[in-house]
Amino acid sequence: MMLGHAGADVTVYERHGDVGGRSSAIEADGYRFDIGPTFFLYPQILRALFERCGLDLDREVTFRRLDDLYDLSFEDGPSLRLSRDPESLHCEISKIDPVDASAVPDFLAENRRKFAAFSPVLQRPFNGLRDVFRGDMLKALPLLRPRRSVDRDLARHFRNPRTRLAFSFQSKYLGMSPYRCPSLFTILSFMEHEFGIFHPIGGTKAVMDAMMRAARRFGVTFQFDTPIRSLHLERGRARGVVTDRGMEPADAVVMNADFARAMTKLTPDSARKRWTDRNLARKKYSCSTFMMYLGLEGPPPDRGHHTIFLSSDYDRNFADIEAGRILSDRASLYVQNACVTDPTQAPPGHSTLYVLMPVGNLREGGLAWNDATRDAARRIALARLKDAGFGDVESRIRFEKIVTPADWESDFDVHRGAVFNLAHNLGQMLHYRPHNRFEDIPGVYLVGGGTHPGSGLPVIFEGARISSDLLIDDLSPRPVRQDRPSFSPKRYPAHDIA
Ligand SMILES: Cc1cc2nc3c(=O)[nH]c(=O)nc-3n(C[C@H](O)[C@H](O)[C@H](O)COP(=O)(O)OP(=O)(O)OC[C@H]3O[C@@H](n4cnc5c(N)ncnc54)[C@H](O)[C@@H]3O)c2cc1C
Repeated sequence: MMLGHAGADVTVYERHGDVGGRSSAIEADGYRFDIGPTFFLYPQILRALFERCGLDLDREVTFRRLDDLYDLSFEDGPSLRLSRDPESLHCEISKIDPVDASAVPDFLAENRRKFAAFSPVLQRPFNGLRDVFRGDMLKALPLLRPRRSVDRDLARHFRNPRTRLAFSFQSKYLGMSPYRCPSLFTILSFMEHEFGIFHPIGGTKAVMDAMMRAARRFGVTFQFDTPIRSLHLERGRARGVVTDRGMEPADAVVMNADFARAMTKLTPDSARKRWTDRNLARKKYSCSTFMMYLGLEGPPPDRGHHTIFLSSDYDRNFADIEAGRILSDRASLYVQNACVTDPTQAPPGHSTLYVLMPVGNLREGGLAWNDATRDAARRIALARLKDAGFGDVESRIRFEKIVTPADWESDFDVHRGAVFNLAHNLGQMLHYRPHNRFEDIPGVYLVGGGTHPGSGLPVIFEGARISSDLLIDDLSPRPVRQDRPSFSPKRYPAHDIA
């Protein structure tokens, strides 16, 4: 969308028959499910990208801000309904610990400062070590507390481990445990409380469709069912892509495929100096997920739009996920009950449930995802759904689709099924993450969860902006305008496409 708007001739090669990847939808028997992302945070970034292209995101997609953020259900109590309203939030957190409830405003105020300090850092590229020591980074550093985990940092505010969980389970959005996730990411729960959680009507795919429509207006063409088989390199530089039809030449290649998977499958090891196969094998990856997409007869269960159900043995559950060797029978769950907000997701008189159970990623010596594992995981997920207060769901199931870590790898091209990509430990962030202007292969620009700033939709959109600007800057005829990078001549002025 951004490159097309800047005047580039862009072709998107997509392995599947539609856009979206992990953010696509499953549509069957009148039911529609988000495949992956369901928590839509901070649409401001996307709004700004549309504006930059002369478009109005809110004319393309209807975002509903949820009144309540989510239901947070601890297995052995209490059950909370968290919202952005300060009084209600105080009341709910008091059910865990009244002293902690009084500390919430301080936690939010501190994270407001942290968010403001880190936003500029997350909005620019890290092309080299020099970028680590720039002014914005040095200003933010005192708030970084690099040796602390999210949980330990929260302990400065909250004494009760459950309160800490209420503000740290969001580390799972990065596929990490709050005991390992760097303290920077306390900003995730802050962002939910500060800005809210949104549901795009029609599901997350509606946003992907809006981007495709926008891109098409700028002349971008989409080639579906066209897997890239390899990158075409000439003297180490990317000069195109190879599909089943042959080589398609290009001045630059933007790579959105899962980073580690694309590196190991689409480029020769010898072409990479830093991100060799050996180095990739040593990296840390996020957890994976076991998914159930259920079409139910009857109305949606009497629960909120989002429910997080936390195991009474969450320490062991986190450890089991990290080790990836067994299925935890005391698993935690996340459940999306989208029809309470958006009845268009199911036929009249029916509803949908999206059930996510975090599990270990694929690794040597790890759990083998065969039919028996799949059946065991299904049994556990359905039992935990009952424990989480969703009643007898099984007898109402009229449609069911299961996705396992092995499916994430084979059907969605996700390395080790680690759906949240390279882990976000500090050794794999900023300068240490694969660079937006890919350092190993000139002519390649990375987008998606495997590059800076990281995984999760808002930062992925931000990363797309960073990579587009680098590409536009690199390929624009000199001298480059400083106020706004642009190819020249620009083919689609904003007023032509409104
Ligand atoms: C279950 C789940 C829940 C999640 N929940 C949230 C959430 O609530 N909020 C949030 O912000 N994030 C969430 N995420 C994370 C978010 O989905 C991902 O970070 C994001 O979608 C990844 O986007 P991407 O562009 O990096 O990769 P993808 O979406 O996987 O895009 C890669 C694209 O490249 C295509 N491709 C791959 N290989 C080839 C090839 N060789 N040739 C042609 N095309 C190819 C793929 O088909 C795909 O379309 C969730 C993820 C999952 C899986």
